[in-house]
Amino acid sequence: MPELPEVEITRRGIEPFVLGRTITGVTVRNPNLRQRVPRNIARLVVGQRVEHLRRRGKYILFECEAGSLIVHLGMSGSLRVVEPKSAPRKHDHVDLVFGRSALRLHDPRRFGIVLWSRGDSSRHPLLARLGVEPLSEAFSPDFLYKITRGRNVGIKQLLMNAAAVVGVGNIYANESLFKAGIHPRLRAGRLSRERCARLVGAVRETLIAAIAAGGSSLRDFVHSDGASGYFQQDFYVYDRAALPCRICGAKIRAARLGQRSSFYCSTCQT
Ligand SMILES: [Zn+2]
Repeated sequence: MPELPEVEITRRGIEPFVLGRTITGVTVRNPNLRQRVPRNIARLVVGQRVEHLRRRGKYILFECEAGSLIVHLGMSGSLRVVEPKSAPRKHDHVDLVFGRSALRLHDPRRFGIVLWSRGDSSRHPLLARLGVEPLSEAFSPDFLYKITRGRNVGIKQLLMNAAAVVGVGNIYANESLFKAGIHPRLRAGRLSRERCARLVGAVRETLIAAIAAGGSSLRDFVHSDGASGYFQQDFYVYDRAALPCRICGAKIRAARLGQRSSFYCSTCQT
């Protein structure tokens, strides 16, 4: 599933092809995504010029004068730049045409979203209740300390709650907690100020490293294979059950926490 770093890499990868450009056409081959692509999408967006291309959580916002096109990659989506007349592959559901190039949404599982929001997109129901951005200054040790007070939920679950902080998916929650030396099951309310600071630092570091690792795959956005934005990284704990901890050599443990696979080292994380 694309997580925040993959979405940010996608945003950076497509930005040179769409920023300042005017949308000249929309082709919808299959409107049945997580939410139905509006029937009148072409009428809404054709003629709009993309003034900013932003990311909010895992949404990509094509901000135009009259409103914003909101795109989400869902479980399996990717965007790539193609020639508008090139033959679509299976699961290439939507094209946004910008003159001589087009942005093509490939989404086998169809959990993606392509919607138009008139006016200020931050008030759109999909975006209005999102928590703070983990790479913004709002995600501070103080903030984490405040929102964890009195909370009995495990810290990993809280970290993955998009109403608190957006875009820290399962992989990056596991990795950040390892780096901060914090057990994923620790009650959020028991985090000390010092550990809040360490965790905030670890979350940022993990996401920034993932974005940097994806930077080398930027060229994929214009390649016909379009394996855009996904990249292999050397994880410390994620998907490494029973393998030796890279720090202490103990076996990495796996557990289900709040329906999600959790991986941790019970020596390094307390
Ligand atoms: Zn360890």
